[in-house]
Order: sequence, then structure tokens, then C-alpha cells
Amino acid sequence: MDLRSLTPAELTERVRAAGQPPYRGEQVFRWLHGRGAEAVVESVEAMSNVPRALADALAAEAPLRPLAVDAVQQAADGTRKLRFRTSDGRAIESVLIPDENRVEPLDVRLAEARAKRGSEGPSDDDDDVESETERRQRLPGRLLRDKLTLCVSSQVGCALDCAFCATATLGFSRHLSAGEIVEQVYRATQIAGRRPTNLVFMGMGEPMHNFDGVSRALSLLQHPWGAAFSPRRVTVSTVGMVTGIEKLGQLMPAPNLAISLNATTDEVRDRLMPVNRRWPIAVLLEAARRFPLSHGRRVTFEYVLLAGVNDSDADADRLPRLLRGIPSKVNLIPWNPFAGPAFARPSAERIRTFQERLRQGGLAVYIRTPRGDDIDAACGQLAARGAEALLPAPSVRA
Ligand code: SAH
Repeated sequence: MDLRSLTPAELTERVRAAGQPPYRGEQVFRWLHGRGAEAVVESVEAMSNVPRALADALAAEAPLRPLAVDAVQQAADGTRKLRFRTSDGRAIESVLIPDENRVEPLDVRLAEARAKRGSEGPSDDDDDVESETERRQRLPGRLLRDKLTLCVSSQVGCALDCAFCATATLGFSRHLSAGEIVEQVYRATQIAGRRPTNLVFMGMGEPMHNFDGVSRALSLLQHPWGAAFSPRRVTVSTVGMVTGIEKLGQLMPAPNLAISLNATTDEVRDRLMPVNRRWPIAVLLEAARRFPLSHGRRVTFEYVLLAGVNDSDADADRLPRLLRGIPSKVNLIPWNPFAGPAFARPSAERIRTFQERLRQGGLAVYIRTPRGDDIDAACGQLAARGAEALLPAPSVRA
């Protein structure tokens, strides 16, 4: 395992084994996870107040395998795609999605004033907004904070082979370690100059296929010596690997769950998502029903809209029936094109009609406007290949 994947308890154990006092374990953990936007430790030498012999001893057993920032691409809408190179030369991507219209107010009066001035209130994900108490504890003294979502990758490539997804075309290379997952967050924090407010596991890969790496990453990110992320601000998105959903629900505390449903019949879902043959819709929704939700939380269902495939009135009428009894919201994602499959995005009118029909069926439904699609950073477009594809213009080299 790499050094950044180790928990505080594991680090302390190793520190002890090296004959050093246990508090050094906390020191090392803070170097690796707690530096915020200042710096991301790339070598054991950088841990300046830790005895060099100890750092070397730790790294001998669990080497630091840092990510290198290959390129940062900025889209017209402010979305930034970050391309990383793993220490074994693989390419992965994360996406930073700012949303100035989604301000998370620390002061209710300011929020109201802002709303009166006509700026847009929460348009979707309204339950991602943390409680007033939570906010005050976290950022005392700051009044307003724009929403900043970071979308991270959990694997190099993906094994699930969904017909409409660009990452699928890469095939599966390997799982990312917990350290490589959390380092995406730290690098993004550094690049953005502030910590993201929300974290979504919706980049490359299937998080539940890499359950161990992802669950370990979640606990590292939650640790008060590190980034101290509230699990309420973290969403794990899955194709619907039911065993993974069950294990995720047992984490204390569990993050938010998103399920990429994408169809309303097994016949269509089998074709779009081969995983459906293993866990068909009824079995998947049963797992969603059992997923433990804390007060006010909902399961997100993502639904990629593909013209003529899953966007009919009959689909729109079936969906509310399928989701009955599950506290849920639906995110409609108009398909983002990439070279290859013969799919198309439905017309704007069709999308609106579909949404309206779902609303009439009693669902909370939001349309996910494509973000960063001009730099292939939108949902389902992440497909960084080899070195050739990753040569950035010198000016964007980090
Ligand atoms: N494997 C996980 C997370 C990665 S995909 C999952 O499937 O949930 C994140 C979301 O993007 C999923 O909801 C997926 O259905 C959607 N998606 C994939 N390809 C897409 C595309 N080309 N256009 C729009 N959404 C896409």
C-alpha cells in the first residue's frame, strides 16, 4: 500500500514499530492529508519536522506514490478539468465545477437579500446544502461561500462497459488506491485555492468495483486531522452494484448514494448497462429502498437521456412507479456526445416534457445542464488515454 492510503491508526502502528513515539503518526498523517491548499507533499523529504530516518523507514514499506498534475483545462463556463499522471504513468481526470449561483450562505439574512435581488436560489441538490449549525462550525467568520463541486475518479478506466459512456471505451486498467483518490482532492484544493464544498465520485471508474479503495478514501477524507469532509457533502455514484451499495450503507456514517438508473425496463437497461444482467432493476431498487438515509436525505437517481432509447412518455410514466416509496430525487443528464456510439441527445423540448411528466408523477426532478462539455469534462466524457493525448499547452502546465 502507498503511504497516503494509510489510516492514522496504521501510521501510528508503523511509527511505533520503527521505535518512535506515537505522536509522530499524527504528524505524518497531517503532512500527508492536512495541508489544505498550501502544498501537497510529494516526497518524504518534504515532511520537515519528522525525523528523516523515520520518514525513510515508513516510505521503504509504503512508498509515497504521488500524482503529477499533467494539465489543467478551463472550459468557457469555468469548469476545470484536471489531468493527473499516476506514478506508474497512467492518466486519470478530475473535474472542478464552480457554481456561483449556488451560494451557501452562512448568514440567513444575506441569503434572503440575495434571493430578493433575484439571483438564483438552489436549483437542484438542495439537500446537499449543509445545516446552518454545520456551516457555522466549519467556516466561522465567512459569510458566503460559492458551491464548488469536485468530481473524482476511482479507477483508471472502467470495467462496466456502459454503452453510452466514454470511459468505458478505455477498458479497465486498475483500481486507484485510497491515497490516489484523496490526492485528487488535495491537488484540486491547491489548484482552486480553496477546498471544494462538495465531492462526487462520478469521474472515471465504478466506485463500488473499488469498494476498498473508495471506503478507505472516505474515511481519510473525513478525518479531523485531514480535510474533515462531512459525509453529507460526499456522494458516491454507482451503476448499481448491489453488494457495494449494501456495504456502503453499513459505513458509519454513510455518504450520499447516487444510482445511475438510466432506463425503466430491464430490456433497455440490459442493453445500456451490462451490469443490469447481474442485478436487474427490481433487485437494485430493493437495495436502494434499504439504504439507510439520515433525516432529510434522499437517494439520487441519475438518468442519462438518450433520444429514442429511454426518453418516451411510457418511460416517464414508469419511473415514478418504480421509485415509489424511496425518498429520492432524479437528475436528468442529457447525453453528452463523444466519438463512437450512435446515440443522440433528445431535443430541449423533449427533455422538458420528460421532466414535466416526471414532476406530475410526483418526483423531484432536475435537469443537469452539461458543464465543461467544450473540454470534454462533462458527465461521461472522461477518457484520458496515453501520453499523446495529455500533452498540454505549456501555459497550462502546472
Ligand atoms: N460509474 C459510476 C460513476 C461514473 S459515471 C456511475 O455509473 O454512476 C457518472 C454519471 O455519468 C453516471 O450517471 C452515468 O450514467 C453518466 N454518464 C456516463 N456517460 C455519459 C454521457 N456520455 N453523457 C451523459 N451522462 C453520462
